[in-house]
Amino acid sequence: MNKAFISIGSNIGEREIYLEEAVKALSDREDTKVESISSIYETAPVGYTDQADFLNIVIGIETTLTASDLLSVCQGIEQELGRKRVIRWGPRTVDLDILLYNEEKIETESLIVPHPRMAERAFVLIPLLEIAPDQVNPLNGQLYSEEAAVQEEGVQIWCHASEGTYFKGK
Ligand code: ATP
Ligand code: MG
Ligand code: MG
Repeated sequence: MNKAFISIGSNIGEREIYLEEAVKALSDREDTKVESISSIYETAPVGYTDQADFLNIVIGIETTLTASDLLSVCQGIEQELGRKRVIRWGPRTVDLDILLYNEEKIETESLIVPHPRMAERAFVLIPLLEIAPDQVNPLNGQLYSEEAAVQEEGVQIWCHASEGTYFKGK
């Protein structure tokens, strides 16, 4: 069994529903078990800033899929949920990025793990550390909790993981 972390973000329409549908699509699969789900965070856009705020979560999964098959599954879910990519880093219904896959370092044309920009993104690190506080960066052996980006502003709890209404019936 492989352990992976996936970052899920949405900033169009019913953002919470897109997050929920993406988690559901993964947990409905026989080859993937959703082990942990962070609180939902509302985050200011990074990169292309002239767009709506995002909702972001990180989930921990166990899966028998290879990393490359997991990427295909994530892209299939993005397609299914109607993602249209017009502007790089621009608005989207849902984005699923593989952050970590075991402790592996992967570098192919279509997949880089650990996700190449995660260590500089508070909207990724803060939810990741909520569910995996002792997670180490496989590239340098350092705790992600010690990355400077964890301190950044613009990432606020939108809905606590402990709240009853959060992904009701998940
Ligand atoms: P960013 O990667 O900076 O968060 P993005 O998520 O908006 O940007 P996408 O348009 O979703 O980027 O993906 C662009 C390409 O990134 C995908 O076609 C995919 O092949 C590639 N990619 C490389 N590494 C990963 C990864 N770890 N998780 C998801 N996609 C990845
Ligand atoms: Mg992304
Ligand atoms: Mg992506």
